[in-house]
Amino acid sequence: MAHEVKGVVARGKGAPVSIETIIVPDPGAGEAVVDVQACGVCHTDLHYREGGINDEFPFLLGHEAAGVVSAVGDGVTNVIVGDNVILNWRAVCGQCRACSRGRPQYCFATHNATQKMTLADGTELSPALGIGAFAEKTLVHSGQCTKVDPAAAPTAAGLLGCGVMAGIGAAINTGGVGRGDSVAVFGCGGVGDAAIAGSRLAGAAKIIAVDIDDRKLEWAKGMGATHTVNSGQTDPVEAIRALTGGFGVDVAIDAVGHPAVFEQAFYARDLAGTVVLVGVPNPTMEITLPLIDLFGRGGAVKSSWYGDCLPSRDFPMLIDLYLQGRFDLDGFVSETIGLGDVEAAFEKMHRGEVLRSVVVL
Ligand SMILES: [Zn+2]
Ligand SMILES: [Zn+2]
Repeated sequence: MAHEVKGVVARGKGAPVSIETIIVPDPGAGEAVVDVQACGVCHTDLHYREGGINDEFPFLLGHEAAGVVSAVGDGVTNVIVGDNVILNWRAVCGQCRACSRGRPQYCFATHNATQKMTLADGTELSPALGIGAFAEKTLVHSGQCTKVDPAAAPTAAGLLGCGVMAGIGAAINTGGVGRGDSVAVFGCGGVGDAAIAGSRLAGAAKIIAVDIDDRKLEWAKGMGATHTVNSGQTDPVEAIRALTGGFGVDVAIDAVGHPAVFEQAFYARDLAGTVVLVGVPNPTMEITLPLIDLFGRGGAVKSSWYGDCLPSRDFPMLIDLYLQGRFDLDGFVSETIGLGDVEAAFEKMHRGEVLRSVVVL
């Protein structure tokens, strides 16, 4: 029997979100219904509301979530009712050209639920990133459910489903940060601070946080930054070179996604170093660099999509590190809020006042 629950819906471009009654169908083959316990507020939700992703309104927002499986459809073998799960937006297909070459973290044909959740009048909803978890229940593909240790607080665990994983993965998976490396992270919001935490986990010896906001630089220290640079007051490229014997860092991570910041990251790395772009640029942005510098400096320029994560590999491992006290996932939870507070949380996020507001259901 389908369920009627409350969910946060963006009905039109730029319009404030509203709480609506939504219909969640019983899971079909390969699908699961999850009772959402907690869901973080991410910039991507705001981008959906502003029409910056696509025009397929109405959107059911929310995608950084943890919950408990409450029903599964035919053929589901990876989870059972009662499992504690983190939802992911990389349910790998196992068959595409990336998967078939043993690189499922790049899967080009990820799964989402086949059935649609709807408004009470039958209007089909587009769930954010195929999840839609600012709701008491949501319908997903079973592959979007990654089982984790139930001891993990859902408020923290859910954040691994998107932003925190993106940042950690940008450092460890994409950037290849390892023991003894020097790292610079540009932009110290949720994703940037996660890149800092990931660099610490990986054993980086020097982690330089760069931001224009001293308050964010203080947060970054709490996540593992060994040095901070206020790029509104100091040239960050010179400051980073001064902190690294004049050479630059092994890995420079742009967690902002702005041409001026990317250029700083590009020149703040040592010869043969790696630049990682994990911040999301807007479609109008362009960059011009001397091609000789791209060649002559060597190394690698990479982008990181969802931290190049493989949820089945990375989520349980990071939850274990969190439960062992080696990774401060709770530190990303700035506040817990209700379903009706999402619009206010967008404002706080926009003003840079929070790492993450987390809706608790
Ligand atoms: Zn695939
Ligand atoms: Zn997100």
